Formats: sequence, C-alpha cells, structure tokens
Amino acid sequence: MIQLYIPLNFLGVLYREIKQNLTDLDRMFALMEREREIADAPGARPLMLPDGDATVRFEHVAFAYEPARTILHGVSFEVPSGKTVAVVGPSGSGKSTLARLLYRFYDVQQGRITIGGQDTRDVTQASLRQAIGIVPQDTVLFNDTIEYNIAYGRPGASHEEVVAAAQAARIHDFIVSTPQGYETMVGERGLKLSGGEKQRVAIARTLLKNPPVLIFDEATSALDSANERAIQAELRRAAQGKTTLVIAHRLSTVVDAHEILVLDNGVIIERGTHAQLLERGARYAQMWALQRSAEAEPTNEIVGK
Ligand code: ATP
Repeated sequence: MIQLYIPLNFLGVLYREIKQNLTDLDRMFALMEREREIADAPGARPLMLPDGDATVRFEHVAFAYEPARTILHGVSFEVPSGKTVAVVGPSGSGKSTLARLLYRFYDVQQGRITIGGQDTRDVTQASLRQAIGIVPQDTVLFNDTIEYNIAYGRPGASHEEVVAAAQAARIHDFIVSTPQGYETMVGERGLKLSGGEKQRVAIARTLLKNPPVLIFDEATSALDSANERAIQAELRRAAQGKTTLVIAHRLSTVVDAHEILVLDNGVIIERGTHAQLLERGARYAQMWALQRSAEAEPTNEIVGK
C-alpha cells in the first residue's frame, strides 16, 4: 500500500507542478519555436563589449513578417552608448518590431543591426540576450514567488540583491505588504498584480540583470497618471548610463531623449530632439499638441491610437 501510495503521491505532486508551470511551459515552447528559426551562426562568438561601448546601430534595416508585406523600409539610426533614443509613431508603424529585431527574435531581411560594432547575427544568442534587458509592454509573470520572478533577471542572485532591485524599482514596500512578502505566489494562479505593479517587477528584474542595453516597450494601456509618472521616473533611473531604446506611446516619456524618431509605416519621417522637432512644426509637433489637449481632458489619451 505504502509502495503504491508513494508513486501516486509523487505523480500528484508532479501533475500539480506541471499544471502550475503550464504558462511557463507555453512561453518556453513559444521561445523554442523561435529558437528553431533563429540559430547561432556556425562559429558564432560571444558578444564582446571590451571598452564598454554598447552603441546600437540599425543600418538600412528592411524587414517583413510575411513576404507580401514589408513592415520596415530601410530604417537607419544609432543609439550612442549610454544614451536614450525614443521611437514614437502611430499604432502598427513598426515600433515594437524594432525591439524584436534588436533582441533577435527575427532576422532582418536587408541591412544589419550591430551592438558595439558586432552584427547581432554573428554573436551567440545567449550572449546577445545577456547584454539586453527588456521591460515589455505586458510582463507575463511566472506562477511562482515574487522573489523568483525578480531573481529570474539574474539566476543565483542573493535575497539582498533581489530586495535592493525591488527597492530601486519602488516595489519593495508593496511586496512586504503582501501576505507572505517575497514568498507570495504571483501570476495567474497566485496574487494578481496591477499593470503598474507588474511593470515594476519587470523593472526590478532588469535592474538585477544590469545589462548594458535596455529596451523599454511602454505599455499601451493607460495607467493612472500618478502611477505613470512614477513608472517613468523609475525607468529614467534604470536607464542612466545604459544604451536605451524606448518604444514610447506617450510623448511625456521622450522629452529628455538624446534623439526622437518618428516612425510612420516603417519609415523614419522625422528625427531630432524634442525642441528641434517642436521647432520643425510638423508631425511630432502635431502629436505633441494633440497629446497636450488630451491631457487637459479627464481621460488618459494614448498617442497614435
Ligand atoms: P503599437 O503602437 O500598436 O504597439 P507598433 O508600432 O509597435 O504598434 P508593431 O507591433 O511593430 O507596431 O507592428 C507593425 C506591423 O507588423 C503591424 O501591422 C502588425 O500587424 C504587424 N505584425 C506584428 N507582429 C506580427 C507577426 N508576428 N506576424 C505578422 N505581422 C505582424
């Protein structure tokens, strides 16, 4: 009886484990699917940034998800090492696609993308992804503890390091107010976090990873404006000294950027600093005026929608 019980019990535990981690598995399989398409080149070497120069360069990049429809048409820009470049533009113009290409979820069809002068197709994916931190639009949390979800940024990080990252992302006070603090289960089968809280977990995870290159894909869903300002301040702090590409849906995020790119139908139609683009009085200036009038309204309008 005991002999029978143990395996059954074991199977039960295993079943629960598998079920609980189903969303993780889904994600894993989705990633594996991509991995099959995007493979390390024979003889690929790790990305090396010996002088700390993590300049990101898109050179005449053309890309289509499906052959019949080109999404990016010869896009060129540079994010100088340690600076922030922001991309704005209407929904569907290709902003998030730039982020996906930089992380090499897909390969470009024409042109190239380099980091520190190295083509992203010539380096190992592991080293590329080690060098890039993403705060995505909508962070999917693992069905695990808050601690695990933050520590995922750097496996092997100590509890103190996790706490320091959570403090920097302004999520620590919230965490210690939950029933089991850092041991509280989150995700679909645990404590549900708000959009802002999830983004803070993603920021903490990225701070812990401490990569030289950051991608912020700003949430399209509007947070309340106090929350939004706080998240923006946290993002700005996290971006200090890092080569950062911001996919922005609100212009208030981009005012301080080294350069702003206005993307329309996969083409950069304007570029410059906030002041230069306002001076120009064209598309960006119109978007800015629209956003200002929307801010005067009680609802939180989103640029490009
Ligand atoms: P938003 O502001 O709404 O986030 P975006 O500017 O970031 O939009 P992208 O997500 O880059 O736009 O999408 C650009 C275009 O590529 C869209 O027309 C979209 O429908 C298409 N697209 C995105 N992902 C895929 C995909 N996996 N397969 C085919 N087409 C895709």
